[in-house]
Amino acid sequence: RAKHSGKNTYRFFDESMDESMQHRVATQRYLEQALSDSEQLQVYFQPQIDSRDGALYGAEVLVRWCRQGQWISPGEFIPIAEDSGQIIELGRWIMEAALRQLADWRARHVHIGKLSLNFSAVQLSNSDVAMELIEALKRHAIPASEVTVEFTETTLMVRSAQLERNLNLLREHAIAIAIDDFGTGYCSLSYLRELQAHYLKIDQSFIRGIGNNDSDDCIVAATIAMAKGLHMEVVAEGVETEAQTSYLTHLGCQYLQGFGFAAPMSAANLEAWLAQTKTPSERKALESSDAD
Ligand code: C2E
Ligand code: MG
Ligand code: MG
Ligand code: MG
Repeated sequence: RAKHSGKNTYRFFDESMDESMQHRVATQRYLEQALSDSEQLQVYFQPQIDSRDGALYGAEVLVRWCRQGQWISPGEFIPIAEDSGQIIELGRWIMEAALRQLADWRARHVHIGKLSLNFSAVQLSNSDVAMELIEALKRHAIPASEVTVEFTETTLMVRSAQLERNLNLLREHAIAIAIDDFGTGYCSLSYLRELQAHYLKIDQSFIRGIGNNDSDDCIVAATIAMAKGLHMEVVAEGVETEAQTSYLTHLGCQYLQGFGFAAPMSAANLEAWLAQTKTPSERKALESSDAD
């Protein structure tokens, strides 16, 4: 018997299920409820900063789930939703919520820049996610140049026909591609070139080592140099310190994302953040006008 005899949740468990299996099944169940009552779900946005002038370049869309007052981490539920296939429906919800928000910002002339959406391998290999994105962009009158699609290298390990169809559609519609968590998967460099991705996102594990781990310094520098040679731009993930920022900026890494600049936040908080965050040149202008 499942250890909780709670009212409506665990009764369908089989005795043979171990705890992690029970956890999975319960999470899938709760996620099903969340998808029909999407009050529980939200999209958050994490600023991406242009290292050249400190201005906001764009934001990564990150889903948030709050179930009965408890936040569940995407690191926990996304793999479960991928396993069950629910990521396809969840992904649709995220895409729609993010694009609706972007359309609203555009209508109000709030300039957020490019929105970057995470696509999981399951979405790219088992659904028409690219066509759905293209249709949603049309519906919201958002140009393709306003969005980026990010996915990890691991997505490219099994190159199904459906995956290729989705990637081709993105390319045909000039929707930028970003390789997420770069350096942690097994993407061949020749495929990387063939893919024509626009951005490489260096995984935060390498960024964390900057300044205290010579091999991480070297990996970061080599990745930035390689990306340059392949005409790709680089986004550093998980930038938390001044030392990381100056090392990355010095190497010519174009974009910086991390708690050192801003954590992921709600749309309303992003607007407030934007209103009080000046770019360095604006700050300078303010300072010199203060001095008068
Ligand atoms: P990811 O796409 O690599 O996202 C970056 C993760 O790093 C986010 O975690 C973000 O909150 C976190 N992060 C950002 N800056 C820092 C920093 O300075 N330090 C540290 N320690 N962490 C930082 P989050 O939101 O928990 O998401 C985890 C993963 O879950 C994502 O990794 C992505 O793989 C997946 N995920 C999140 N939202 C979505 C989504 O909408 N769709 C899909 N398919 N996957 C998503
Ligand atoms: Mg990402
Ligand atoms: Mg990442
Ligand atoms: Mg990740």
